[in-house]
Amino acid sequence: MKNNKKIIPVASPDLTGNEKKYLNQALSSSWISSTGEFIDKFELEFAKYIGSKYAVSTSNGTAALHLALASMGLSESDEVIVPDLTFISTVNAVSYCRATPILVDIEKQGFGININNLESFISRKTKVIIPVHLYGIPANMEKIMEIAKKHNLLVLEDSAEAQGAEVKIGSIWKKVGGIGDAGIFSFYGNKIMTTGEGGMVVTNNKNLNDKMILLRAHGESHSGHYFHPQLGFNYRMTNMQAAIGLAQIERINKLLNIKKNISDLYREQLKNVQGITIPETNYQTRNVCWLFSIIVDIPYPLTRNQLISKLAKKGIDSRPFFIPIHKQPNYIQKGNFQNSAYASEHGLNLPSGYDLTNQEINYICESIKN
Ligand SMILES: *Cc1c(COP(=O)(O)O)cnc(C)c1O
Repeated sequence: MKNNKKIIPVASPDLTGNEKKYLNQALSSSWISSTGEFIDKFELEFAKYIGSKYAVSTSNGTAALHLALASMGLSESDEVIVPDLTFISTVNAVSYCRATPILVDIEKQGFGININNLESFISRKTKVIIPVHLYGIPANMEKIMEIAKKHNLLVLEDSAEAQGAEVKIGSIWKKVGGIGDAGIFSFYGNKIMTTGEGGMVVTNNKNLNDKMILLRAHGESHSGHYFHPQLGFNYRMTNMQAAIGLAQIERINKLLNIKKNISDLYREQLKNVQGITIPETNYQTRNVCWLFSIIVDIPYPLTRNQLISKLAKKGIDSRPFFIPIHKQPNYIQKGNFQNSAYASEHGLNLPSGYDLTNQEINYICESIKN
C-alpha cells in the first residue's frame, strides 16, 4: 500500500511562484510593516481580479468581516441574517458589533443560505444579509440580491472559501465577493490562496471603501495625527503578507486549475458510489474546490465518522463539516435547522491540497469504495 508513512493532508498551499522573491524584496526594502509597495500592488491586482473598484487588505478574514460590518454602521439595535452552517467567524463578527445574528437554515443541496423562507426572517431591525459561499459553492446570489433590494438591506458576501467561484445572475457569470455591497476573503494557510494570515474586503462603494480605510487604522482623522474621532481598529496587513499575496494572485488561474483537476477526478471516481453524494445546486454555479465535499449516508456501509477513522488509518486526513452555529455555546438556540444539522452530521471534506497527486486521489477513492 502506498502512502503508509506520509499522511495526505486536507489542504496545503502552493508557494512555488514569486513568493520568495517578492518576500525578499520586501525584506531588503526594510518596509516590513503595514506600508509598502506590495500592499498597494496586491490590493490593485485583487480588485482587478474580482472586478471590483476597491480592495482593502486586512490582517485576516475575520478582521475583514468585522471591518466591513463596522463600516456599514452596524450597531446593537441591528439584526444580521446569517446561515446556520458556516465557520464561527461569520457570526462572531456580527457579535463584535453588538448586533444580533439571525440564524437561517441552509439549502439541502448546495449549502448556501436557504432562500425559500429567507424573507420571513427579515424584521424592521434587519440591516445586513451575509450569504456564505460554503466550501467553494456559491450561494443563490440572484435571489438574495432580489430580496435585499426589495427590503433595502445591505449584502456582505463571505467568500472566504470560494475565491474564484462564479454564479449566474441573469445571463451573466459573476465572481463571488463582487456581487453584494461588499465581499470578504481569507488568506489563511489552507484557503484557496494564502498570505500566511490575511484577508481582503472588496466593494464598489467609495464611501464604504473610505470608511474601511479609516477604521482599519484606528479611525485617525485626516486633519491631524493622533486624533481619533471614530472607534477604529488595527486590522492592517503587512507588506510581507502582501508580497506573498501578490505572487499568489499572479498565479490564481493556475492555482484554480489545479483545484479543478482535483475536483474533476474525485467526481469521476465517486459518482457511482452508493451512499456518497456530491453536492449540487438547483441554480447555475461554477464552484471552486476549496475542499472537495461529499455527503455520506445509507446505503454507504459506514457513518461519516466511521469513514473518517477508516481513512485516518490509511494515512488520509479528512474533515467533518462545521458544527452548526445554533449548537455553538455562544449562540445555542432552537429552530428549524434541519438541513444544516443533516449536512453537519453527514458532510465530509476530502484532501484537496495543491500538492495532491492523481495517484493519491485514486488511492483515496479506492479507500472509500472498499
Ligand atoms: C476562514 C474563514 C473565515 C475567516 O478567515 P480567517 O482569515 O481565518 O480569519 C471567515 N469565514 C469563513 C466561511 C471561513 O472559512
